[in-house]
Amino acid sequence: MEDIKMTAQKAQYAKLKPELDQAFSTMMASMELQDGPQVKSLARALEDYLQVAHALPCAHGTDALLLALAALDLPAGGEVILPAFCDRFVAEAVAASGLQPMFADVLPDTFTIDPVAVSSLVTPGTVAVIAVHLFGQCADLAELLQLAKRHQFYVIEDSAQSFGASYTMPDNTTYRAGALADIAITSFYPPKPLAGMDDGGAVLTNQPAWARKAEELLRKGGPNNSQTGALSRPAPIAALDAALLEVKIKYISDYKQARQQVAAVYDQLFEKCGLCQVPVRNSRSTHIFQQYVLKVPGHLRDALQQHLQQHYIPSTVYYPQPLHLQNEFQLSYQYKKGDLPVAEEVAASVLSLPMHTELTEEQQGYIAYHTISFLQEHG
Ligand SMILES: *Cc1c(COP(=O)(O)O)cnc(C)c1O
Repeated sequence: MEDIKMTAQKAQYAKLKPELDQAFSTMMASMELQDGPQVKSLARALEDYLQVAHALPCAHGTDALLLALAALDLPAGGEVILPAFCDRFVAEAVAASGLQPMFADVLPDTFTIDPVAVSSLVTPGTVAVIAVHLFGQCADLAELLQLAKRHQFYVIEDSAQSFGASYTMPDNTTYRAGALADIAITSFYPPKPLAGMDDGGAVLTNQPAWARKAEELLRKGGPNNSQTGALSRPAPIAALDAALLEVKIKYISDYKQARQQVAAVYDQLFEKCGLCQVPVRNSRSTHIFQQYVLKVPGHLRDALQQHLQQHYIPSTVYYPQPLHLQNEFQLSYQYKKGDLPVAEEVAASVLSLPMHTELTEEQQGYIAYHTISFLQEHG
């Protein structure tokens, strides 16, 4: 059996090599490496695929979030509600934009932001909610859009982890993640579903005025007011990344299908486990399995990870610490342990297993065997 890896960038590259070589040599021959035709052409490909009016590629998903927040022109100090269980860059971008992050608890099954928790956090100072489409499927957009309409705030979609997932509204219209709310962002950082060489991101919106504003700000190197601190200032995407992404976007539905198949095999293998919960699907969303996340008893999680490591099985904890208990946010906004119990429990009990298009059933069987036998022995 081959070594088990968390991701399969190399194998994906090998398969696309002829097409990528072609794209790179065209780019090198033109020598338009700054703001060249590749960037515009990637923007059009994103607009086509996602069915969104305007896509603006940039250097990072975090840049995209800074640009999106600035394009909306929100009042300083406005409250932005976001899930306590997600990537810390989301909260950092909000704080760096002069806005106040308000952490909402998440749902115990899908781990996405809980609309009931959001509604209890709404105040006259609420300016936006960020719907983070976690691990490959969409958050409860229908409920969030309804709340936003009632209380007059914006919905920002973060589809960094769910590029290619789609969401069906109660009226049966279906949209791609990133095409539904007021404004959205995505990321092309290598572990993400559509990945460049080093990094990349994009702002997505149907509103021409916001698209124009974001583009102007990107040209100027970001909004003037933002105290980006540890975050870098928004920058354009590299032409090399744009060329690579445009090739890869054509294969996104193949990758998606292959990952769904891997997930189905895992589901079946873990059916008899008893002590673990396989990923729960949101019935309105498709799931592209950016991560395959098991939930296990919290007191066994770290030991399970060590046990798997001893058997050469890599795994990752996304995310070990909910945002409201991370030092800087806890101190600035006075949160304490117990404030958001579901996010805290989820952070203590999740484990992401190897998930990529090159995983074999033999490898998956080996992973499941070591996971289940450990849990049954210690549970
Ligand atoms: C990765 C990620 C980001 C940030 O994207 P970068 O390209 O790494 O800046 C933002 N939000 C979510 C949910 C992410 O997973």
